[in-house]
Amino acid sequence: MTRSEELFSEAVKYIPGGVNSPVRAFGSIGSVPRFIKKGDMASIWDEDDREYIDYIGSWGPMILGHNHPAVLNAVIEYAKQGLSYGAATKIEVEMAKLVCAMVPSIEMVRMVNSGTEAVMSAIRTARGYTGRDKIIKFTGCYHGHSDGLLVKAGSGVMTAGVPDSLGVPKGYTKDTLSAEYNNLESVKAHFERCGEEIAAVIVEPVAANMGTVLPEEGFLQGLRELCTEYGALLIFDEVITGFRLQADGAQGYFGVTPDLTTFGKIIGAGMPVGAYGGRREVMEMVAPVGGVYQAGTLSGNPVAMAAGFAQLSILNSNPDYYVKLNQKGDSFFEGMKDIIKEAGLPWQVNHIGSLGSLFFTGEKVRDYESAKTSDTKAYADYCNYMLDHGIYIAPAQFEAMFISMAHLPAQLEQTLDVMRSYFCR
Ligand SMILES: *Cc1c(COP(=O)(O)O)cnc(C)c1O
Repeated sequence: MTRSEELFSEAVKYIPGGVNSPVRAFGSIGSVPRFIKKGDMASIWDEDDREYIDYIGSWGPMILGHNHPAVLNAVIEYAKQGLSYGAATKIEVEMAKLVCAMVPSIEMVRMVNSGTEAVMSAIRTARGYTGRDKIIKFTGCYHGHSDGLLVKAGSGVMTAGVPDSLGVPKGYTKDTLSAEYNNLESVKAHFERCGEEIAAVIVEPVAANMGTVLPEEGFLQGLRELCTEYGALLIFDEVITGFRLQADGAQGYFGVTPDLTTFGKIIGAGMPVGAYGGRREVMEMVAPVGGVYQAGTLSGNPVAMAAGFAQLSILNSNPDYYVKLNQKGDSFFEGMKDIIKEAGLPWQVNHIGSLGSLFFTGEKVRDYESAKTSDTKAYADYCNYMLDHGIYIAPAQFEAMFISMAHLPAQLEQTLDVMRSYFCR
């Protein structure tokens, strides 16, 4: 037995499924989680001292790699002063100013502790602002695990094969309307039927929780126009794309301005942080200014803020980092495509910047339906091979690969070599 297997046999006794988040389970690839004990730059090590090149990066936050000295020092310095006061601190002001400076659509921002909380709160704000109840979400988009959003969500829910969750009362989801990604007609149909009841459309501007699925030309712009026409708010869930595609996220990349934006992952640099923000008049709906209640004992925690602030500061002051990162992503994922072609396989590679997914299907993947045509057994076999050869990728088909600024060209090359040895056997 490996150390990971030993730990897992203990873990399942005390933690449901042995993991604190379902996406960490290796069940869908018929394996056992690798228990990770340390990371440095783009590498991680498991409890058996096996080294991996890390393409999860904590599901996105580690865009600078593990152990970035500036982030680490910020955490240490702040931790020495005290871990939490539940009171206002200077670093929160600095953080809010920086987020507003980086993302022009954001005039005010509220910090929370996770992406789930950010989305839940943004939706409450949109409902408070519009005085309407209904929201539109897209099949296969994941927006955290709050009750009203566990409707046709992607990610872990997708591979678990459970379309919805037990324990969610019907009343909590009756105002959640589903539409199809990249299909404006499916959105328009809802607006035409009950446009005056729709508070918001929430979308992952690049879907990354049914694998990576890019918005087609005109899709995001079309959502913007429909929302404006019907007086609904457009919410971009940039928990993955925020501070990843570029400093101002997918909204900057595609040139479409949402009313509200949610963040998570990168904004905390590995600490539990989420945030939601937007125009002043909308954000001033939030308590204690307005009547939309939202609170958090540990929100804006100084140590977490210090980590996030250090990371965002680096990203903000080095715009060339994004150019390099996105070039690295392009050449890596195009290299994957070449290998698939060389092997004579029909598999699809979707990618944008440092995000990408290999789908084991011959169909072009542009929405949930097409993503679902992937052969998850073939993915499982591939994934186990990659893990056994020191490449750490998501233990499930419907996730993205995350490249960080710390990935060295030699590591990306090595990864492609492993892929070639798998596909061109
Ligand atoms: C991860 C994710 C969330 C949820 O964030 P948590 O921090 O896990 O609660 C929400 N939306 C998107 C797009 C995500 O990828």
